[in-house]
Amino acid sequence: MAYNAFENFLAVVDKAAKAVGMDEQDYIAIKYPERELKVSIPVRMDNGSIQVFEGYRVQHSSSRGPCKGGIRYHQDCDINEVKALAAWMSFKCAVVNIPYGGGKGAIKVDPSKLSKSELERLTRRYTASILPIIGPEKDIPAPDVNSNSQIMDWVMDTYSMMKGYTVPGVVTGKDLDVGGSIGRPEATGRGVMIITLQLLKKLGIDPKGVSIAIQGMGNVGSVAARLLYEKGCKIVAVSDVSGGIRNANGLDMQEVLAFIGNKQRFLKDYNADNVEHISNEELLETKCDVLIPAAMENQITKDNANKLQCKYIVEAANGPTTKEADEIIDKRGIILVPDILANAGGVTVSYFEWVQNLQALWWDLDEVNEKLEKIMVKAWNELDDVANKNHLSYRLAAYVVAIQRISRAKKLRGIFP
Ligand code: GLU
Repeated sequence: MAYNAFENFLAVVDKAAKAVGMDEQDYIAIKYPERELKVSIPVRMDNGSIQVFEGYRVQHSSSRGPCKGGIRYHQDCDINEVKALAAWMSFKCAVVNIPYGGGKGAIKVDPSKLSKSELERLTRRYTASILPIIGPEKDIPAPDVNSNSQIMDWVMDTYSMMKGYTVPGVVTGKDLDVGGSIGRPEATGRGVMIITLQLLKKLGIDPKGVSIAIQGMGNVGSVAARLLYEKGCKIVAVSDVSGGIRNANGLDMQEVLAFIGNKQRFLKDYNADNVEHISNEELLETKCDVLIPAAMENQITKDNANKLQCKYIVEAANGPTTKEADEIIDKRGIILVPDILANAGGVTVSYFEWVQNLQALWWDLDEVNEKLEKIMVKAWNELDDVANKNHLSYRLAAYVVAIQRISRAKKLRGIFP
């Protein structure tokens, strides 16, 4: 049977709640999405023909505030994936305790196959289709896999044109010139770096020389690689969609990142002394201290969890590990910091962007980075406490924190009517 990310989410929710003796009645109202919208998006292509794309927006929870979460452009996305991604957003925002629920959108498309003007028409029509359910006080989209600041700028403009005035707070991850926040592009990778250093600190390990393998060189993986490299870590392997490169003595990350540039070149074409080419599967099985999956869901599964040669996993992607793999990882004594904390830096600075937009006030980079660090470190300490007190893995502890926070809000507000 095909992997169903939302079923995976539900199973972990039940397991975490059970581990701390919660009754299903205490949290049943927060398991399922509040709203699921599916749209057909007709686009006039450059050659004059019309193509219809499928799009989604799922709002998992608005109990703690407006829904929040990215829009993914990917040829393989489906509704169950978007439901899981939306739910993970609610849980993520609860873990870092920012006043949001969770949502997620997606368009089933490979954007690299579209021209820039086709991409713009697709984005604007998708925005118009989901317009009734988004807004700065309802649901605030952001970038995700294969979407970027230009796409967010079009979302903002389309929404604003329909309203008749500029509404920067409808979407985050915009360019600076149209209300984006300084520090947002690198925030997710920065958060991954902050959490990796917190984990190492707790274990009494000096980051200098710690070996790290990173799957995915998109916005998240490449920034995490750069920042951890700058902290003196040894990046032994990295990969992108074309495959990976490895050097047990450490890659020259400055050179590798310069080679990739702005996604113009692929790692399969990178060559240097003592660098071997590997597959994405081999990357995951690379001998290292810290493995950072920073690509897609469903990468660490029951089929490869026994082959991992890392001591720690910091999940930069959303949902890279299945629940069966989690159990194997636990048994093997590999410590895993889950996605809903490790990659929460992005949505945290999105929250800062939205706050700045609502106040029409700009913060500087130091202020953004200091506030980000403060929120991430506090969330890490709270998670560590819950894990230790209840003898839980960090995954289950993070779910416990989220379930408790969201269900408390739900209980205080009461069930309408
Ligand atoms: N797409 C990112 C995530 O999965 C960021 C979401 C946001 O900033 O709203 O966390």
